[in-house]
Amino acid sequence: MFWLYPTYIAPIFNQFKPLGNVELKTKIDNLLKRTGFQSDGVFVMDGSKRSSYGNAYFTGIGKNKRIVFFDTLLKGMNDDEVQAILAHELGHFHHKHIKKHMISSFTISLLGLALLGYLINQDWFFHGLGISHPSNHIALILFTLTMPVFSFFIAPVNNYLSRKHEFEADAFAAKHANADDLVSSLVKLYKDNAATLTPDYLYSAFHDSHPSASIRINQLKTYK
Ligand SMILES: [Zn+2]
Repeated sequence: MFWLYPTYIAPIFNQFKPLGNVELKTKIDNLLKRTGFQSDGVFVMDGSKRSSYGNAYFTGIGKNKRIVFFDTLLKGMNDDEVQAILAHELGHFHHKHIKKHMISSFTISLLGLALLGYLINQDWFFHGLGISHPSNHIALILFTLTMPVFSFFIAPVNNYLSRKHEFEADAFAAKHANADDLVSSLVKLYKDNAATLTPDYLYSAFHDSHPSASIRINQLKTYK
């Protein structure tokens, strides 16, 4: 899928054009050189076809990695802000956050399936939930319905790690691009997404995968 997706599957749903802005392209090439990142090209996707949501991402593996910007992201940002956003994403890559996230979600899935394998043979699991005739498909349905009650308590751990990764990616961006540019791009993104700048501290600690705007911006200002 890593090989097929960028070249054959994604273009079925969206149009990808090589980045046309020469000045921005030069800045990006320099950033990639500075950070030792190899890429197969920088593309712009017509995300505006569906919504105003803006994003940037990588696809592929090895030297075949493509960098993709949504046209909606490029529209509101100046070149330095786009560079800062890309530097943040490269920070995630540099710190191997994607790999770590995959390993932890595969591990959690495996543990979940092991638990399901155990419960499927326990009469109390079915009877306790009001089912008198146990079967494999009922076990799957009961498991899917009851899991959120327990996984609810795993979410804050995941979110804590995710927020830690965001700070690491921000620090990388401040080092290889510019902290001020990342701050101004974040303010624009928060504005576009109509996100609150001052969420409740406890709510945020439990539910948020990204640090709140004020905390994140204050941290970025210390890197100057
Ligand atoms: Zn991030």
